[in-house]
Amino acid sequence: MAEKFDVIVVGAGPAGSAAAHTLAKAGLNVIMFERGEYPGSKNVMGGVIYRHQLQEIVPDFLESAPLERPIVQQNFWMMDEKSVFQMGYKGLEWAEAPHNNFTVLRAKFDQWFAGKAVEQGALLINETVVTEAIVEDGKVIGVRTDRPNGDVYADVVILADGVNSLLAKQLGFHKELKPSEVALAVMQVINLPAEKIEDRFNLEPNQGATIELFGDSTKGLLGTSFIYTNKESISIGVGTLLSGLMENRMKPYELLETLKQHPVVRKLIQGGEPKEYLAHLIPEGGYHSIPKLVDHGVMVVGDAAQLVNGIHREGSNLAMASGRMAAETVIMAKQVNDFSANILDAYRTNLMNSFVGQDLKKYKDAAHTLDRNPVYFKEYIPMMNRAASEMFTVDGVSKWDKQKKVMGMVQEKGTISTIRDLYRAWKVMK
Ligand SMILES: Cc1cc2nc3c(=O)[nH]c(=O)nc-3n(C[C@H](O)[C@H](O)[C@H](O)COP(=O)(O)OP(=O)(O)OC[C@H]3O[C@@H](n4cnc5c(N)ncnc54)[C@H](O)[C@@H]3O)c2cc1C
Repeated sequence: MAEKFDVIVVGAGPAGSAAAHTLAKAGLNVIMFERGEYPGSKNVMGGVIYRHQLQEIVPDFLESAPLERPIVQQNFWMMDEKSVFQMGYKGLEWAEAPHNNFTVLRAKFDQWFAGKAVEQGALLINETVVTEAIVEDGKVIGVRTDRPNGDVYADVVILADGVNSLLAKQLGFHKELKPSEVALAVMQVINLPAEKIEDRFNLEPNQGATIELFGDSTKGLLGTSFIYTNKESISIGVGTLLSGLMENRMKPYELLETLKQHPVVRKLIQGGEPKEYLAHLIPEGGYHSIPKLVDHGVMVVGDAAQLVNGIHREGSNLAMASGRMAAETVIMAKQVNDFSANILDAYRTNLMNSFVGQDLKKYKDAAHTLDRNPVYFKEYIPMMNRAASEMFTVDGVSKWDKQKKVMGMVQEKGTISTIRDLYRAWKVMK
């Protein structure tokens, strides 16, 4: 007779480890399968991890988590070919505990986080692919793995297997992702001495910075690029919707190479030694793409449930929060010994009422609107740069006349269409 657990967790990313940790801490018998050699060995992220959601699960994480740098400076760069319009915030309050967020390297972070779940009593099985869910009388009762005699049974299976969730597809929760629902991201980790990073980004030791770049950095395609400071390396990457890449016949690694050569970026990474090259998909469909989250004996969390807030570059925190909430629902279901969809649906309700559901709802039409209207990235960002250049150039022309020139740019584009575009953007972001 194959072994039976209270819960099987598929995937040891942030969502899976959050679920396994919460369940094991409550005394449930939990097994977590990871296809990689170790958790994180196959995972990719910029990556910024958020303190709040992590601390809810591991209150003393600061003592042992492999964090790179606490972020004190978040910048947004609107790029044209030879210029950049910059916005941002530097807050030294974030340099002190409790902090706001941190850069991490996933190969280290995921291993640590899964290890914390193991410390609580979860059983972690690496190098094992879960190939399908075992369904009996319309209820998920376990999983089949690629190990000999690899069937394992449980009251509940939590699918935390990431953006491509084969199991969620097998169970009919969602169809194959459309190219307009998913971004392809490529990134590089570039080694650089700590002092160079601190000089170039104006940081003290143990302070970090993030830059999100828009416009020319993706050649006007809907997406973002990013530059994040680690302890002794820089993560630099580009992510754009797959549909945009296909329509424009662009290759993501070419976009990354162009970004690295951009005149305002080049100096930040100059002299660095490329260490790793990584590529991964990001679910970007948002609220409208959230699949069915619960059925008899099964729940979906994290990227497998498409829980990414692309506007705010948040994914890992939504993954951890959803993993924790799914686990809390199972703990409650265990008390009444009922694992039907009806009982497990409390997870969906809690999730949709939390910041996860609320934030995704807030921006439900943002990505689609920006995708349908490339004017924002292709025309308004260059216009912002030209307007800034005009206003900041001191050339004997009065500021009144400069203002008129800037207004002339708007009129050239069409005043009515500009007002319409701005209203549309405000509506989807408000
Ligand atoms: C380039 C890039 C940059 C990003 N930057 C950020 C950022 O800065 N901040 C942020 O918050 N988010 C960021 N994200 C998003 C973030 O990485 C995800 O939202 C988050 O990792 C989701 O966690 P997860 O546990 O749901 O999925 P994953 O992290 O994808 O984990 C899924 C796990 O399941 C395992 N698995 C899959 N299938 C199976 C199977 N059949 N059997 C066994 N194991 C399986 C995988 O190996 C993996 O370990 C970024 C993503 C990318 C690609």
